[in-house]
Amino acid sequence: MSAYDIAPGVAAALERFVLPEKLGFGAVNAPVMFSAEWRDGQWQRGTLLPYGRIEVWPGSRALQYAELVFEGLKAYQVGQARPNLFRAQDNCRRMERSAQRLSMPLVPEALFFQGIESVTSACARFIPGRSGQSLYLRPFLYGTESGYLLRNSHTFRFMVIANPVESYATGAPTVAIERREVRAAPGGIGTAKAAANYAASLRASSAALARGHTVALWLDAAEHRYIQELSGMNFFAVIDGELHTPELDDAILPGITRDSLLTLARHLGYVVHERPMQIDELLKQIEQRHCSELFACGTAAIVMPIAALAEPDERAYRPERTDEVAAQLRAALLALQERRAPDPFGWTREVA
Ligand SMILES: *Cc1c(COP(=O)(O)O)cnc(C)c1O
Repeated sequence: MSAYDIAPGVAAALERFVLPEKLGFGAVNAPVMFSAEWRDGQWQRGTLLPYGRIEVWPGSRALQYAELVFEGLKAYQVGQARPNLFRAQDNCRRMERSAQRLSMPLVPEALFFQGIESVTSACARFIPGRSGQSLYLRPFLYGTESGYLLRNSHTFRFMVIANPVESYATGAPTVAIERREVRAAPGGIGTAKAAANYAASLRASSAALARGHTVALWLDAAEHRYIQELSGMNFFAVIDGELHTPELDDAILPGITRDSLLTLARHLGYVVHERPMQIDELLKQIEQRHCSELFACGTAAIVMPIAALAEPDERAYRPERTDEVAAQLRAALLALQERRAPDPFGWTREVA
């Protein structure tokens, strides 16, 4: 991949930018972004631009048909001279699989890294440096061609935007069991990180929030019996001291945090099970005190404790503990991500 261009205005945008005290998660935009176009069957030279509005055709397939896949990953710079990325190659591979599922062109590894590294290194001096803070990177790929004919676009754009973020501090929220609607079905696009999956989940997410819960817990499409995951996080339970998580299938998003926790937990001596998990069995195990703790995981929150699962009629199932195993795993993973602990798995990579 040849070098990229730097648009006029980038230096001034970087010069002007002041990192606010309050960051939230996604409330503050990094001052630059990366953009590259696919046309005539190939990727064109990319450009680093000042962050700003983009133009899209109203009839573009990204808008009309949700021809869009994305990724989410973090660059950390806590007590380090240079930022470092966590398992970015796995995000790149997952974006390839997502693009394949939607029949979009693949973003080659060199272009993917050019995008995330150009933004990260331009923003290096704004990456907040307290433990838990980071630069959240959001690469995405979308179809730009207008037209209602049901086929893929012939033109695409790959972009990377970024946000300096706090740790996604959530407390220990409650989660609403979604008994009726479905996020992803076998043969669908649930395993792809596609915007359309979120579209399917938004109504239940909003309804959960309105009822005072944080997010919905999804069940399988065929029988509504097996736990899948939350709208943007994978799910774990501690049962008789052992870790259980739904086994990946053709509807669950294979989270990189999920995979990291499975590896770390085994390393820390936990017995770990990946298996089909029935919701009603789990609720019984909570009542009978076999299930002592629940949590969810994803790049944003890392590990989010769950205080209770609530049925549609608000009956709540509350395990005896919150944020014990979850806190231990979160601390271990964050120490590794921030390079405060040795990285026996080779997960971190410094940005030049
Ligand atoms: C992104 C995502 C996750 C978490 O994946 P990570 O790689 O751990 O960030 C889980 N579920 C869904 C539906 C997602 O989109």
